[in-house]
Amino acid sequence: MRATVMYAAGDVRVVNVPDVTLVEPTDAIVRVTQACICGSDLWPYRDMAQNEQGQNMGHEAIGVVEAVGSEVRKIKVGDTVIMPFAYSDGTCDLCHDGIQTACIHGGFFGNAPGMGAQAEALRIPFADGTLYPLPTQADGALMASLLTLSDVMGTGHHAARIAQVAPGKAVAVIGDGAVGLCGVIAAKRMGAEQIIIMGRHPDRLRLAQEFGATHVVTERGEEATQKVRELTRGLGAHSVLECVGTEQSAQSAVDIARAGGAIGRVGVPHYASVPAVQTFFKNVTVGGGPAPVRAYIDELLPDVLEGRIQPGRVFDRTIGLEETPRGYQAMDSREAIKVLIQL
Ligand SMILES: [Zn+2]
Repeated sequence: MRATVMYAAGDVRVVNVPDVTLVEPTDAIVRVTQACICGSDLWPYRDMAQNEQGQNMGHEAIGVVEAVGSEVRKIKVGDTVIMPFAYSDGTCDLCHDGIQTACIHGGFFGNAPGMGAQAEALRIPFADGTLYPLPTQADGALMASLLTLSDVMGTGHHAARIAQVAPGKAVAVIGDGAVGLCGVIAAKRMGAEQIIIMGRHPDRLRLAQEFGATHVVTERGEEATQKVRELTRGLGAHSVLECVGTEQSAQSAVDIARAGGAIGRVGVPHYASVPAVQTFFKNVTVGGGPAPVRAYIDELLPDVLEGRIQPGRVFDRTIGLEETPRGYQAMDSREAIKVLIQL
């Protein structure tokens, strides 16, 4: 079968790999119908050291179940399923807590052979705990939005939840990438009164406004902080969604947070620490991490199925599997916000 493998920074290829097979009795094999490229895939695309084995890429997919192991009870062959970016047994205490990304038997897709989603098929551990079967033969036009429930929309929702977004609050979203845009959708959905999007790309900022952003800040650093203060009567935002993960974005998040407010971090941190003294004296809550998107599908799915939210609009390019390397280039050069791979 064909699968996307990265061998070094800038060197990603679609290659022939052995067909995936069931390994554990709790496994399923999913034939991928839609996958995509994540902003987090761009980190190795920029800095991965040469590796002859390569890394199987992709952790977001919708597909059809092709085979199930002997101990799989709920998932059936032929089910159309959402594959969250992490696998989880669905039975441990942490899964019951709704933090499936910390499942004691869990792990992440897109880093082991046969377990990358930018491929014709992949092996799913703990199929019953991991996969989310779509209720009916969902409308094809909704597939892009449904695909976002495997990561990006759930991640934006997680940022908003951790940042304690609530009706009447002032919210700032740092980052106009796909996660930040989904953070805007989430903040609007949760009733925020003011939603400030912070980014630099006119097309993305326009989309953010269509999703519900009320203000746009294009400055960076200290100027951005001043701008957000002006927009919030000098106080800062109650809720800050940090959707980038750089040192500067982490510092900005703290600078623009209102005293007593909260920061939801979902950009994988490429920095060492959050300013401890500053967050202490501002009484700012800092939280976040890999979003337990599996837990959020129940809540977000009806809004997608009924068209109340359209997170699939973050996909501004659709390609075939063989064109995946070009998709990486397009996202890396900011030509595309997020690329959907249609199989
Ligand atoms: Zn678990």
